[in-house]
Parts: sequence; structure tokens; C-alpha cells
Amino acid sequence: MVSQQECLFCKIIKGEVPAKKVYEDDVTLAFLDINPRNPGHTLIIPKKHFETIMEMDEKEATRLFESVKKVGEMAMNGVQAQGLSIAQSNGQAAGQVVAHVHFHAIPRFMNEAPPGLESILASKRLDEKSLDKIAEAIKGAPTGAPASEAAAPSEEKKPSKELSFEEEFGDEFKL
Ligand code: AMP
Ligand code: ZN
Repeated sequence: MVSQQECLFCKIIKGEVPAKKVYEDDVTLAFLDINPRNPGHTLIIPKKHFETIMEMDEKEATRLFESVKKVGEMAMNGVQAQGLSIAQSNGQAAGQVVAHVHFHAIPRFMNEAPPGLESILASKRLDEKSLDKIAEAIKGAPTGAPASEAAAPSEEKKPSKELSFEEEFGDEFKL
């Protein structure tokens, strides 16, 4: 866990690390990504330090997303793009590198290939029964951070011999 004192984005908020700031209000800040995926690639962050969105309450998340929409549209229009991708990762498994919540707003252009989510994660085919099973599990799932047992299941604590989703579909998804 990165302390707030060590956090790169907290240092940008405090002005200790330079950034190309494009928007600021009482609770959020937006600045250009230092390694842009496209011209206008902007990061929108809460001024308060949270590692993941699971630590934020709904009001804080709502305020952040209001800025994401506003700044995303500013970025898209600022560079005369035709589209806008919004991306956000939570945790190492999701590929999060900087441990301070951030949304990527990436202006998109018609001549790019390949567009869409497919360029991030290739799609897979699942049969009807598998999709139903996954939908039921999501409907009954809690919100918030994953329980530590769920993140690292120990053999003794497993309630049954039932396969985890990772075990059941991992091959399909090439884990
Ligand atoms: P993520 O992989 O979602 O954690 O994204 C982290 C992003 O932060 C990457 O796109 C980096 O290029 C960007 N980044 C890292 N350091 C800086 C910095 N000093 N100023 C602006 N963007 C940064
Ligand atoms: Zn921070």
C-alpha cells in the first residue's frame, strides 16, 4: 500500500510534482497523462486520496464522475476528436499502476484501429448456461472491496467442492 505522502498523484495535487492541469474544482483535479495514448489523454482524480473506487462512498464517486463527464467532453472537443473512451482500473489484477483513483479520458479518432473495448480485452464466447450462472452470481453479490478470502481463497475455507469462477472459466479467458 502506497502512503499518501508517497503517492505521486497526491504530490501533483500539492503542487510538488508538475502536471499540465486542465480542470480543477473543490474535490477533483484533471491533468494530461504524461504518456498519452492519444492527444488529449487526460486523467481525472479525486483530491482526497483513495486507492480504489471501492474506498469511496457513493457521493464521492458521483462527484468524481461528474468531473469525468465534463473533462472528458472538454478533452474530446479540445482536440477535435470524434469519440471518447473512459477507462478506470482498480487493483493490480486490473492493471492499476498508480494507487490513487483515476479515470482516463481518451479522445478517439475515426482513423484509429482497432477501436472499442476489443483493443483492451479480446471477447470470448460463453454458452447460455454459463452466462445465466454468472448473471445470478453478480445479482446476489455484495458491493465494496472483495473479502480477503475471496481474493485469495484458502482450501480449508472453501465451502464446497464447487469450482470458483476463475477455475471454471479461467481457461476460456486464458488466465
Ligand atoms: P494506470 O495504469 O491506470 O494506473 O494509469 C496510470 C497512468 O498515469 C499512466 O497512463 C501513466 O502514463 C500516468 N502517469 C504516471 N505518472 C504521471 C505523471 N507524473 N503525470 C501524469 N501522468 C502520469
Ligand atoms: Zn494519492
